[in-house]
Amino acid sequence: MKLYNTLTKKKEEFVPLQEGKVTMYVCGPTVYNFIHIGNARPMIVFDTVRRYMEYKGYEVNFVSNFTDVDDKIIKKSIEEGVSAEEVSERYIKECKKDMADMNVKPATTHPQATQEIDGMIAMIETLMEKGYAYDVNGTVYFRTRKFEEYGKLSHKNLDDLRSGNRSLLVSGEDQKEDPMDFVLWKPKKEGEPFWVSPWGEGRPGWHIECSVMAKKYLGEEIDIHAGGEDLIFPHHENEIAQSECCNGKTFAHYWLHNGFLNIDNRKMSKSLGNFFTVREIGEQYDLQVLRFFMLSAHYRSPINFSREIMESSKNALERIVTAVSNLTHLAQEAAVDVLSDAEEKLLAEIPVYRKKLEDAMDDDLNTADAISAIFELVKFANTNANDASSGAFVTALKKEIVALSDVLGLQVEKKEENLDAEIEKMIEERQAARKARDFKRADEIRDELLAQGIILEDTREGVKWKRA
Ligand code: AMP
Ligand code: ZN
Repeated sequence: MKLYNTLTKKKEEFVPLQEGKVTMYVCGPTVYNFIHIGNARPMIVFDTVRRYMEYKGYEVNFVSNFTDVDDKIIKKSIEEGVSAEEVSERYIKECKKDMADMNVKPATTHPQATQEIDGMIAMIETLMEKGYAYDVNGTVYFRTRKFEEYGKLSHKNLDDLRSGNRSLLVSGEDQKEDPMDFVLWKPKKEGEPFWVSPWGEGRPGWHIECSVMAKKYLGEEIDIHAGGEDLIFPHHENEIAQSECCNGKTFAHYWLHNGFLNIDNRKMSKSLGNFFTVREIGEQYDLQVLRFFMLSAHYRSPINFSREIMESSKNALERIVTAVSNLTHLAQEAAVDVLSDAEEKLLAEIPVYRKKLEDAMDDDLNTADAISAIFELVKFANTNANDASSGAFVTALKKEIVALSDVLGLQVEKKEENLDAEIEKMIEERQAARKARDFKRADEIRDELLAQGIILEDTREGVKWKRA
């Protein structure tokens, strides 16, 4: 499998450090609100990388953090008059719900920054011992000049950056030795959460959190590190500096970054009023549609979100779902079970679509082409399956469409249990209507069910139902 590596600016063949195993770290959200649809992009994209690696037989150790100490969380907690912990715990829970609805698998570990402070203090101490960090009145900085490779990920010209930021030093706003130095530990401010450290009471800088959590749960040297492209500089550049100076090893071998999501071709922002949470979109669409939309573009390209695009994504996904549901129906109704010779020949063509999907995914996760392969298979199924098909034939087609969609984490099978539960609920509602002598409503429900092919029978043991 080839992956585009931001570090080398090339598509490279993926070779894991340990055969058959992948270690992968994805920077997670700061939990001060419901996640927005921009945050959903790295979640869906890198969940798809993970699923594809697992599909290829790798054992994937997938770590994604929650940043649960941050200025925005503190601000929200002050506004609400509750603790920062209450705010972060609430939104971690909500985030996990959104992830489940987008069919994003829970990480192997979801560490939280506030639970890992000891590790952060230990890493900062090591950096100080090695001369890579210095303390100025309770603020600890990383000495970027000492790390010669600083800037290797973002390919930035550091001297330009340095002179651009020099004004900070001149104005005396900062006590840093170099404008590029960044904070590892900051002293507490009144009313903020704090921890005791050798440099006084305070809290960690954002970048050190990820270096520590990646090291603790994955090791000093990992295969893949990922996040949105806005994190390349300074966040990921700083993570590399901290980890490599502390551990003396290459931190991550493949750096993957997703492009940004815009709304109606503009940057998403609260002030422009074009800001959507995943939860808001979930009120209008099944979040499988959002997943489908995200995967219909290449992960490194910018993607534009609009009402029209969501509508066309919904219709496109529906085409797969309908094909699967028709095949289920044909399988139930099939007069013969065994494959005919002609069907056997047709089935021999199926691996072509799987191969197309794999080739697309192997080429730096080309999910758009992978989806096209699924549509070709859907078309093949729609053309070749009919009332005269055998049960074995339509079942094989259905299984393959479901399996290929599953590689992308797309759920295309209407769950039988869900349907059954829905029917039971409607029957209960009808019984309640009858009890209330609302026969009009009771008849309406019976007709609605009939339209779905469900026949009700009133028996002495109660209401029974069967499919027509
Ligand atoms: P944050 O909570 O801001 O730290 O962001 C969490 C993740 O979402 C990071 O990987 C960001 O790069 C990513 N992200 C934030 N906004 C967008 C956006 N509009 N499009 C794509 N990714 C985004
Ligand atoms: Zn990070």
